[in-house]
Amino acid sequence: MLQTDVVVIGAGPAGSVAAAGLRNQGFDVLMLEKTQFPRFVIGESLLPRTNEILSKAGMLEDAEAAGFIVKHGAVFLQGEDRVQFNFRETSAAGWGHSWQVPREDFDTVLAKSAAGKGADVRFQHDVTDVAFDDDGVTVSFTDLDSGEQHQVRAKFVIDGSGYGRVLARLLDLDETSDLKYRMALFNHVTGDKRPAGDDEGYIWIVTLEQGGWIWVIPFSNGKTSVGVVADPAVFEAEQGSDAEILRKLLLQEPSLKTRLADMQFVWDKPRRLEGYSKGIRQLYGDRYILTGNASEFLDPVFSSGVTVAVESAWRAQEVVGRYLRGEAVDFEKDYAEYVMSGVDAFRAYVKSWYAGDLQKIFLTNTRAESIKKKICSVLAGYAWDETNPFAMYADQSLKSMAEMVSNGVSE
Ligand SMILES: Cc1cc2nc3c(=O)[nH]c(=O)nc-3n(C[C@H](O)[C@H](O)[C@H](O)COP(=O)(O)OP(=O)(O)OC[C@H]3O[C@@H](n4cnc5c(N)ncnc54)[C@H](O)[C@@H]3O)c2cc1C
Repeated sequence: MLQTDVVVIGAGPAGSVAAAGLRNQGFDVLMLEKTQFPRFVIGESLLPRTNEILSKAGMLEDAEAAGFIVKHGAVFLQGEDRVQFNFRETSAAGWGHSWQVPREDFDTVLAKSAAGKGADVRFQHDVTDVAFDDDGVTVSFTDLDSGEQHQVRAKFVIDGSGYGRVLARLLDLDETSDLKYRMALFNHVTGDKRPAGDDEGYIWIVTLEQGGWIWVIPFSNGKTSVGVVADPAVFEAEQGSDAEILRKLLLQEPSLKTRLADMQFVWDKPRRLEGYSKGIRQLYGDRYILTGNASEFLDPVFSSGVTVAVESAWRAQEVVGRYLRGEAVDFEKDYAEYVMSGVDAFRAYVKSWYAGDLQKIFLTNTRAESIKKKICSVLAGYAWDETNPFAMYADQSLKSMAEMVSNGVSE
């Protein structure tokens, strides 16, 4: 039987960062990925904190060499109103930019980078079972090319299987999300008339009149990702094919009428995803840890998915490394509580957004520069910053701000 120190399930950003970190510590890693890369996955707009983790992992240069478009921030638009958050204007001393990435390219770069550090990366390898015992874990998988079943013996498993949710399914860890069921309809387009200069790479987040919102994410390959996120009823209320509905919802917004007037869809049929918010009962157990989307996933609105994936993966490889060296590890405190503190900060922003409070704060309170910087820090992915009350006490901070705005206090 194959032997290794750690099996990593899935070669998305979480898996690759965990694998690279463990290799940096000198452990043997087998990373099993179900698909053949490059493969499409949604989640194309990154936050500066991601770059920082890639730098720690020694993967930044590989990602930089791929030539992704630089994202300096986010623009929120509602009717005729707009507010721009520039990642260089934050309260955290962190990165001032990130990238917009076609994920088939980005994830391939990261998987290669992990392999370059000595991780044994195997594509078309579908993990089907795990069996834990006192001495380790046996992971079963199918080689999808040959159809053969295999097993590997390891000391620990890190789950980075994203939407596959391998351990959550096998160990019955799923929990209903506390966020509402929503749907996304999206496509890649050409013909996007982008703003010039540094503004080109900003993500646009446009409030949809019917409720919900639109993303516009430009890539360096000339294509732009566009999508609508809303309650399924918003889409059902429209007539026509998915392509017609997507076109109509995009072009009804005043801020997109000109920008997207000449757009051509790249895929004949837009893609749909729904019910993607997931909860989880626990983030770790005896000899396993869940990272990224294999654990909890909130909502795409603040592009936090990949950041949470790499942040949790980075933390996971640290604690697993300590465990494998025989050091004391408090998985609850050192892993679960840490990861959840950032996830809960993002949760507060997501809830405030769908309650309509955050838009009010953004659009009516932009004169309070010090507060804007603190909020911008979280939007840049610095959701684990203990010095920022808008991260550590996000829920209370946003609620008080919303109340002040409602009472007409703007600074
Ligand atoms: C509509 C929408 C828009 C989004 N937009 C953004 C955004 O702009 N920015 C952002 O940061 N995030 C965004 N996200 C979230 C983002 O998609 C995820 O958070 C991110 O991809 C998580 O990375 P990961 O490494 O955990 O998992 P993934 O990227 O999903 O990678 C998991 C890998 O595991 C593999 N796998 C699955 N099952 C198995 C198995 N049985 N055996 C072996 N391998 C397996 C999969 O093939 C996959 O390659 C969005 C999500 C949605 C729903």
